[in-house]
Amino acid sequence: MEKRIIVAIDGHSSSGKSSMAKQLAKKHAYLYIDSGAMYRAVALYCLRKGWIRASGLDQAALSAGLKDIKISFCSTGGKLPRICLNGDEVENEIRGMEVSGVVSLVSAVPEVRSYLVDIQRSLAKDKGVVMDGRDIGTAVFPEAELKIFLTADASVRAKRRYLELKDKGMDASYEEILHNIEMRDKMDLNRKASPLRKADDAIELDNGQMSPEEQDAWLETRFNEAVYGNNRN
Ligand code: C5P
Repeated sequence: MEKRIIVAIDGHSSSGKSSMAKQLAKKHAYLYIDSGAMYRAVALYCLRKGWIRASGLDQAALSAGLKDIKISFCSTGGKLPRICLNGDEVENEIRGMEVSGVVSLVSAVPEVRSYLVDIQRSLAKDKGVVMDGRDIGTAVFPEAELKIFLTADASVRAKRRYLELKDKGMDASYEEILHNIEMRDKMDLNRKASPLRKADDAIELDNGQMSPEEQDAWLETRFNEAVYGNNRN
């Protein structure tokens, strides 16, 4: 039987991590886990509770209330698991600009990170998982057999994100998205707890000028190398 591995895909905001991860998971019948969705769902909970105000995040309320936040992936008819917050699917709500604007405040809280990292590890206990995020190759699965670090120029990423949201009928301007991406990059790179950085053994890919087909071929080669060694592609 083919060896099943853990694939960690990290990188900057909107660098195409989730498309890459989904595609790979589908092709090899692996479980796909969007760790960003988990941080977004916690941010949504904080917004609903009124814990995020102009003065910032009420960290004490969040740390005390974390035990009441249940994050899971539920299948609601579709093929991909969808993020659920206390049992309710919140896939669409977490993608809007309101959550995007505050999620990096929430993800900087160490208690939130350790709470979600425990869930992420339990989801991958049988391997055969592709997980995307910011710290998957550095903190969640330092032992992952394949680590990819994706990046592209901020303007390329903002344009992609703009088209994606527009496609879903969601409201946002290109300028607002660019600003949000730059802000999240800065906060994710500079936070104390598990900041965004490339793992030493991750393979870096700037996909700014790559077609989806070129990226797929590149990815398949890397996957085969990780599963079978360098001799078979
Ligand atoms: O991947 P996505 O852009 O949806 O992630 C939303 C936010 O969640 C990121 O900007 C980051 O603050 C946080 N995040 C994180 N660690 C992860 C995944 C996401 O801190 N592994």
